[in-house]
Amino acid sequence: MRTQLLEDEILNAMSLQKQYGVWNANMMMFLSDEDKEYVDKIQNLCLEQEEKIGGIHGHNKTDHYEWFPWAGKHGLITRQNEYPHRKDLEIGSKAEILRQWTLDLFDPQFNISMGASVLGINPIAHHYKEKENPEPLKQDLIDLLDGKKIACIGITEPKRGSDAVNMTVKAEKVDDGVVLNGIKCYTTNSPKADMCVVYAVYNTEDPRGTMIQGVSHKDWERGFRTERIGIPSVSKVHIGKTFFENAHIPTDYLIGDDGKGYEILFEGLVPERLGIAAGNIEHMWGAFTIASVYSTLRKQFGEKILRHQAVGMSVLAKYHARLNSVTLALLKLTEAFDEKKDDLAGLPPTMNPFVATASHMKEYTSQLSHEMIYELMHSMGGTGVTDQTKMPHYQGVSEIAEVIGGTRNVQLLIGSRTINTMIKMS
Ligand SMILES: Cc1cc2nc3c(=O)[nH]c(=O)nc-3n(C[C@H](O)[C@H](O)[C@H](O)COP(=O)(O)OP(=O)(O)OC[C@H]3O[C@@H](n4cnc5c(N)ncnc54)[C@H](O)[C@@H]3O)c2cc1C
Repeated sequence: MRTQLLEDEILNAMSLQKQYGVWNANMMMFLSDEDKEYVDKIQNLCLEQEEKIGGIHGHNKTDHYEWFPWAGKHGLITRQNEYPHRKDLEIGSKAEILRQWTLDLFDPQFNISMGASVLGINPIAHHYKEKENPEPLKQDLIDLLDGKKIACIGITEPKRGSDAVNMTVKAEKVDDGVVLNGIKCYTTNSPKADMCVVYAVYNTEDPRGTMIQGVSHKDWERGFRTERIGIPSVSKVHIGKTFFENAHIPTDYLIGDDGKGYEILFEGLVPERLGIAAGNIEHMWGAFTIASVYSTLRKQFGEKILRHQAVGMSVLAKYHARLNSVTLALLKLTEAFDEKKDDLAGLPPTMNPFVATASHMKEYTSQLSHEMIYELMHSMGGTGVTDQTKMPHYQGVSEIAEVIGGTRNVQLLIGSRTINTMIKMS
């Protein structure tokens, strides 16, 4: 915070502790006692960390990549996958969503950086056991889960965005693995990352049949190099242009070869989009917890601003209703995903209902979060746009929600294809 504008009493009332308090009061009806205990433990860890970094000042100043080892030590980087070396952690989609929600209220940009590392973790966790020698990938997985290393995921290229499958980064087989050449871009974390989980093709005329996925380490003699690109909305997240110049990936680090990369690309999209939807929902909760508290403290024309209908009803109550609805929908979807994902795993993407539903959630919550956070921010008047609270952080992440993980048009294209399949099947 550059200069303190608000009184201590008002600032303290919008502390992380209070944000968690408001969120807990709301989530009481959705969560079991076990869930609450689980969330409580993570909230306490975040509250300790909040104090250690000095509150809002720490969020504005500190390089959040320094927090990875802290998060890793406490099993806070992901709860989606089994840890090969730990049995003391709750695992599953619901545990993952609740972990993400708790961390996101603490720091949404940190949550985005962790999310990008998790996109590298997921394919390694799902496929390392298939390798003849699983040890190198297993070690990468452990280092990533422990926050000792950071990953990024390389799909998008300067000339291939929405049309991601038709990629141009070339892979070439050599005796002991593959060699990559080409450029990826918008690679979240890549300037800070130790490894890139990257896709490439042997033949650009047949990307589906020849796609590979492998792990490239930056510190290998022929690893990758990066240049940071500027994305002002998320100024603390390092997003890069990532260059592969004869980058060597040894066989042990190839996760999928000869077209298997294409299957893995699709396998990763449902958890990625559910993760983005979860993030969107929690960014809205972040903004709501701050704006709702402020509306009960700030008075104008002799009344709490909550009592002015234009604030209390037209903004806070209206968006509270929408927020509860999407929160419930996502909780239900993650329960269904945990129950049924294995039965539906073999289906082609157009027939797997989770593919379209994850796209629906991602697309809808992205637009809603952008609109809602803007409204909540401005329900606070000038205070909403200052650096006194985390509101600008929530607003920044809501600006990139539309484009990360595929734009609205791509999600709607998937939705329209699914309608066609559904009608044929009915
Ligand atoms: C902050 C940020 C972080 C990111 N992180 C990563 C990452 O970690 N790893 C990674 O690989 N990528 C990442 N991306 C890339 C992201 O997935 C792409 O930006 C996104 O898929 C869109 O691609 P594009 O930017 O090339 O837009 P384009 O594909 O060029 O799209 C431009 C416009 O055309 C529209 N359009 C394109 N095709 C169609 C169509 N068939 N029908 C209708 N409309 C269409 C789009 O909706 C959009 O409005 C990130 C991007 C951002 C901004």
